[in-house]
This record gives sequence, structure tokens and C-alpha cells, in this order.
Amino acid sequence: MEALPIRDELRGKSPYGAPQLDVPVRLNTNENPYPLPEELVQRIGERVTEAARTLNRYPDRDAVELRSALAGYLSRATGFDVGREQIWAANGSNEIIQQLLQTFGGPGRTAIGFEPSYSMHGLIARGTGTGWLSGPRRADFTIDTPAAVRAIGERRPDVVFVCSPNNPTGTAVDRETVLALYEAAQAAKPSMVIVDEAYGEFSHRPSLLPLLEGRPNLVVTRTMSKAFGAAGLRLGYLAADPGVVDAVQLVRLPYHLSAVTQATALAALEHTGTLLGYVNRLKDERDRLVRELRATGCEVTESDANFVQFGRFDDAHATWQALLEHGVLVRDNGVPGRLRVTAGTPEENDAFLDAVRAVTKETP
Ligand code: PMP
Repeated sequence: MEALPIRDELRGKSPYGAPQLDVPVRLNTNENPYPLPEELVQRIGERVTEAARTLNRYPDRDAVELRSALAGYLSRATGFDVGREQIWAANGSNEIIQQLLQTFGGPGRTAIGFEPSYSMHGLIARGTGTGWLSGPRRADFTIDTPAAVRAIGERRPDVVFVCSPNNPTGTAVDRETVLALYEAAQAAKPSMVIVDEAYGEFSHRPSLLPLLEGRPNLVVTRTMSKAFGAAGLRLGYLAADPGVVDAVQLVRLPYHLSAVTQATALAALEHTGTLLGYVNRLKDERDRLVRELRATGCEVTESDANFVQFGRFDDAHATWQALLEHGVLVRDNGVPGRLRVTAGTPEENDAFLDAVRAVTKETP
């Protein structure tokens, strides 16, 4: 690869991705541990069979039926009415973020995120030629609102990322902070504010979706990878002013969302009730992980997501390795002294907690 004439900003960089290791307990990629229920698997079979009959044709380019179903789900889940014209869907929320940066970022433009946060925001920025700016967080991993407002005023980014609940810390962002950042972003440029709610369904707090009212430069992104237990499906979406949906049409590839994907997502949305039942179990398990990790003497960051950040370790990577040797794979996101564990089934979480107790006893 070194000999290839690749873009200068890609030279020497590594692709994103957690190790996919064959370990008994895998709690490293914030997946939902519950397989889809059998009735849903059957329904996917029916829907996909139906779609297969017309696979000689391109899929619905505008994914009208799917966007209507997503609008219905979001409206019911948050109590804030959104219409189909406010929804856009793509292959995972990563593709949504890529389309947003292709539309509102790009060469000569910049995006800011408050780190540590979801590292793909910066990587997708780089991939789209958008300059990346790193904004501040407090020691407790909340966004330092005055410092963030100052950073936006001084650096005048074109795109502002707010990840709530934040990956990898689990921290939810309050509405006042989002409002302050939005005002600062409008005064500075105006620029787009993207609220990444990939873990929104797991939060103790209500969605930030109602903030869309009267804010045409605000976007909320969501995914079916976590709460719907469908990471393998690759379906993410955004809600925003209809103008934003029109704007991303300028960069989306035609027919980007296959008929098979659309059919599968529609089937999953028919089973929202059952799937959100698993979310409730995971929220209880997440809260148990926080309590029990604290009981082992770990320092644990409050979590509104399906994962928990814990520490503090002198050498987080050595602890990651030691847990792996006990058959448990967690994530080292590079946050000094900290690791992240995804809430799994009760049995997986017990295995993880046993491993933590064993490992912390081993290290003097
Ligand atoms: N946003 C955040 C904060 C995430 O953690 C993830 C997945 N790790 C994504 C977006 C992307 O999810 P997907 O592309 O599977 O929808």
C-alpha cells in the first residue's frame, strides 16, 4: 500500500475497527446480545422473499415506506411528531454521518467534536476532506459548555458533533448544553449541529429530538444497530428539517439502500415492542454493572448507554489483556486509565464481573 499514490492525509493511518477475536464473552462493540426473536426472523424471511421477486429492478430510491415507518416509530417513542419528509435512511448511521459531512463539510471546511467521543466522527471527517477540531470535556467527561461555546466562537466550524449518550463514556448531554452550542454555532457561521443519538433508547433521559422544532440546522441521527439488535442489518437514519433531507440527496448514491435492507428493516420495525423489551432488560443490566463495578472499587462513569466506562487503571491496556486472558473481551478506546464494557446478557455480565474481581485482585 505504501507504494500507492494514496491521498496524503490517509498515508500512515490505520482503518477503524475493534479486534474481532473468538472469545467466550465478547463485550467490546456495543452490540445487543439478544438474537432477534424467532417470529421476527420468520417475518424477515417473508418480507425478503417478497422483495426477491422484484430484485431485477432497482429498489425504491427514496425508501418511502421505510421512512414512513421510521417516522412513526420516532414519533411514538419520543412523543414528538416527525413526518416522513423529515427522515432519511442509509446503511448504518456511519453512512448518514458520511452523507452529512459530504453535504455540509468537505475540503476547506471543518467539523468539531468534544473528545473523548465517537472516533468515527473524526475519521469520517478525514475521509470526506473535512478538517477535524477537537473540543474540550471536563474531567468527569461532561461537555464544558462555556469552553465549548468559546471554541465554536473562535474556530467557527461548519459542523458541530454532539454525541448523546456519548461513546465511549456513556455520558448524556442535557438540552441546555445542546441549545447553547446550537446558538453559538448559528452566531459563528451559521453551521450544522449533529446530535448523534445512536444509544438514545438506552438513556435515562428523554430524546433531544423535540429540539428540532424551529431549528433548521439541527440534525438527530439514530441507528437500528443497538436498540433494535440489528447491527448486521446496517440501517441508520436521521431526523431533521425537510431541507436537510433534500440537501443530502445531492451526495447520496442512487439506490444506496438495497431492497433486501429495506424489507428487513420494515420487518424489524413491526416488532418494535418485543425489541424494546430487550432494551429494558439491558438498561437494568447496565445499571447493575455500574453498581457492581463500583462495589469492586472501580471508578465508574455514569452511563445512559448500553455500555459502561470503568477504571481507573495505571495501565488500562494491561488490564484489557488480563481480562482477555480470563475469556472476556472489552474495549480499550485509548481513554487514559479507562476501559469500556458493553452490557451483555446477565450471564455474560456475571462472567465479566468475576473476571474484573479476579484481575483487580491479581494486580497488587
Ligand atoms: N454513532 C455512535 C456514537 C456509535 O457508537 C456508532 C456505532 N459504534 C455509530 C454511530 C454507528 O453505528 P451504525 O453505523 O452501526 O449505525
